[in-house]
Amino acid sequence: MNILIAEDDPISRKLLQKNIESWDHAVITAQNGEEAWEIIIRENIKFVIADWVMPVLDGLELCKKIRASVDSGYTYIMLLTAKDKKEDIINGLNAGADDYVTKPFDWEEISVRIRTGERILNLEKKLVEMNEELLFANLKLEELVCVDPLMGIGNRRNMHSVMDKAHHRACRYDQRYGVIMCDIDLFKAYNDHYGHLQGDRILERVAAAIRRSLRTSDDIFRYGGEEILVFLPDQNEQSTLLAAERVRKAVESLAIEHQGSENGIITISCGVAVFNNECEDIKWAATVERADQAMYRAKSAGRNKVSV
Ligand SMILES: [Mg+2]
Repeated sequence: MNILIAEDDPISRKLLQKNIESWDHAVITAQNGEEAWEIIIRENIKFVIADWVMPVLDGLELCKKIRASVDSGYTYIMLLTAKDKKEDIINGLNAGADDYVTKPFDWEEISVRIRTGERILNLEKKLVEMNEELLFANLKLEELVCVDPLMGIGNRRNMHSVMDKAHHRACRYDQRYGVIMCDIDLFKAYNDHYGHLQGDRILERVAAAIRRSLRTSDDIFRYGGEEILVFLPDQNEQSTLLAAERVRKAVESLAIEHQGSENGIITISCGVAVFNNECEDIKWAATVERADQAMYRAKSAGRNKVSV
């Protein structure tokens, strides 16, 4: 462990260094609190042994300074002093010291107390690590709950919560929104010809291409098997149509071979619907239903098309 010794008396400093080094610690020394503070910051020291009475900045002020800093991780502080009155000890601990050793030193006592401090620092480190792991696991869990594992976009559960909120907001604040229902053309034929494993890869690529063609403020969800729903806040029919055309082209330009389709590549058909204060959709599902019907019209019109 790295230990900083802040002590103005050279003999005492030397003795402390020699003994503590003999217990297999790396020791850095400072002659006063100010020097110690600079080393603590620079070397990220977590174990400090500080004399109380020192010039420039004394041990008590150093304690307060360390406790007031918002640096990450805990710093263990052992205060050294000839002051052994009860009120001195209380003052020292009040300033933020973890332990208090009176002069003249008993080396065995110091050795045991350093081990105690080391144990506390190790526990703190473990706690921080466990906390980080927990945070990471929570993030992962949140992602698992919301993301479709195959397409890497929002799943149905995510769609319901986002659309519920968005629809209520639109109703309440007289806002509009657009939705695009996208469906991969002749996907069953693709799976039959190329196999489901290859089909899964296509789902992932198509979803990624669609997402890339959207704005970050838009949302994208897997609606069903090979159906993807895009939600565009605050858009009218014209701008949603433009977005749908962009989405359609994005998939077309992937130019993924599909021998079973008319033009030899994977394409999508898109249906567009818009919600505003004039339409009578009480629920978002009704708007999505209109987009779904439009998508089927795009299919009947020959696929790889956008329909309203
Ligand atoms: Mg001193």
